[in-house]
Amino acid sequence: MSIATANRQIKLVARPVGMPKASDFEIADAEMPTIGPGEVLVKVQYLSLDPAMRGWMNEGKSYIPPVKLGDVMRAGGVGEVVASEDPAFAVGDAVYGTTNVQQYSKLDGKGLIKVDPRLAPLPRYLGALGLTGMTAYFGLLEIGKPQAGETIVVSGAAGAVGSIVGQIAKIKGCRVVGTAGGAEKCKYLTEELGFDVAIDYKSEDLGSALRKACPKGIDVYFDNVGGDTLDAALASLAMHGRIIICGAISQYNNTTPVKGPSNYLSLLVNRGTMTGMVVFDYADRYGVGVKDIATWMGEGKLKAHEDIVDGIDTFLETLLKLFKGENFGKLVLKIAD
Ligand code: NAP
Repeated sequence: MSIATANRQIKLVARPVGMPKASDFEIADAEMPTIGPGEVLVKVQYLSLDPAMRGWMNEGKSYIPPVKLGDVMRAGGVGEVVASEDPAFAVGDAVYGTTNVQQYSKLDGKGLIKVDPRLAPLPRYLGALGLTGMTAYFGLLEIGKPQAGETIVVSGAAGAVGSIVGQIAKIKGCRVVGTAGGAEKCKYLTEELGFDVAIDYKSEDLGSALRKACPKGIDVYFDNVGGDTLDAALASLAMHGRIIICGAISQYNNTTPVKGPSNYLSLLVNRGTMTGMVVFDYADRYGVGVKDIATWMGEGKLKAHEDIVDGIDTFLETLLKLFKGENFGKLVLKIAD
């Protein structure tokens, strides 16, 4: 494989207010990095685009530090080792790591995980077999603890995490209701992924649709959206219902304070719980999650879909698809073949 002489990078140069815009980023052609002992040079092939990236652009305390102004934008990626001074990695190995939004990434070998392109296409290691799948698996099973026969509701259901949550809940024998934007996504949920009910929150009143779809109440609500959606789910919570706070994409670009739930007393009345989750807390058990998800995919019980857009220069417009609801399944940016 030939190595280019310049390394295109996308840098964060301003803290976005509201929806990120072109002037918050700079496209720069940097020199090709050189590696030292213990380091590996990776040619980045695919990047994971995540709603969380919006949070990483903000100042302030979070579960990981913000991206510093002037730094290359943070991203998880998969690619090929093109030079290595770590004996654990050879040229040609396929790896996953925090490669960031650039064509070539110099990384400490300790932060890299080998992946096998013969077992699954590389983008899948960013989706169902990557952090997306792990978020769905551990969030639903460890916090939600779904039992056969229970009713599960997941928002952002046609998205990367949501589509896997719903399918795992079906595998566990639950009745599954998903909320998504638009008729096409809803049809996909019921006809392709086996959801029992799909609610188009853009054309239906969510509160009454949830009451109708969940006559015995919601036993587990997996929240990807927050805001009014969380409030509507709280209003339909069943006794001892569990809510998993995975994300709140409806709030990430707010220029006003985050909208909290006004129906939270439903937790008191129903002896319910609402628990936040961060996927990294389950890192020592990713192997278990990957094995189960790969098995379910092999058995035809779980479908994974990646939505792949080409070209590092499209980074911002592609990222914004997440906030406009324009992605179908796991959004991936292709950087190179
Ligand atoms: P995704 O669901 O594939 O994409 C985002 C989807 O959110 C869009 O397709 C859109 O679908 C929906 N959306 C956007 N704006 C919305 C709004 N204002 N109201 C309602 N829905 C809206 O993204 P993902 O990567 O799977 O992430 C899903 C959630 O999981 C995010 O909140 C993310 O932050 C969270 N997450 C958390 C962890 C963790 O460790 N806690 C890890 C990974 C992801 P529609 O067309 O249906 O509106």
